[in-house]
Amino acid sequence: MLIRKDICVGCGLCHPYCPTDAIHFEDLKSKVDQEVCYECGSCLRAKICPVEAIEESPHVYDYPRALRKYFSDPNATHALTGIQGRGTEESKSNDVTNRCGPDEVGIAIEVGRPTIGMDLKNIQKITRALARAGIHEIEPENPFNDMIQDRKTGDLKPELMGERVLSAIMEFKVKPSQLGHVLRTIKEVAREVDSVFCLDVYTQLEPRLKVPAEVLEAIESEGLSWRPNAKINMGLGRAWERKVP
Ligand code: SF4
Ligand code: SF4
Repeated sequence: MLIRKDICVGCGLCHPYCPTDAIHFEDLKSKVDQEVCYECGSCLRAKICPVEAIEESPHVYDYPRALRKYFSDPNATHALTGIQGRGTEESKSNDVTNRCGPDEVGIAIEVGRPTIGMDLKNIQKITRALARAGIHEIEPENPFNDMIQDRKTGDLKPELMGERVLSAIMEFKVKPSQLGHVLRTIKEVAREVDSVFCLDVYTQLEPRLKVPAEVLEAIESEGLSWRPNAKINMGLGRAWERKVP
């Protein structure tokens, strides 16, 4: 985001609308720190500026900076996925899409949050740790699938290392037998991540809306607690309902 120095009156009204403190005063005007700004668009959407000095940079969609906007502005549609937001709709709608099947476990790792954000080096720490644990495939519809340069090592494309975003979700799936090993890896790499870190494990539900017992056992045996969370909509339970004669 840019602030036009020639018309800004330095009132400071826009400052509280930036979730990451990227706007500051300079010579009695306001200025956006381009390193810190993750192009979320909040300051512009707030329509708070009395003289309309806030405007989107003409380079906001230049690669790789465009990733800031795709991951951080809820109104932006990701060029790679065609989906608004940080990841895919995978975990929310899995009982309808059936992407994660009955003998699979879906994993979503969420990194970052408003105010703190995160730089993409954190994602590389995770993709590298997963690669060492034998996980080389990311959910095909997930934006990070195209951002990995070397699947063997988990290295991201080098030009991404200077970029920061509000938050991002990485999704992949494993066999139930791999779950314990993968959770251990995730627990270890979470300590190296310099931002908010959340882990989601999702499965298709069994009849009577039960979570598969082996999934819960794997979570608990790694010393993790779990909190059930379901998208309560018309699709919940549809996957097993299809199998009932
Ligand atoms: S686009 Fe977002 S991060 Fe950038 S200055 Fe505006 S509110 Fe702050
Ligand atoms: S609200 Fe507008 S005029 Fe006031 S400091 Fe921000 S950019 Fe400048």
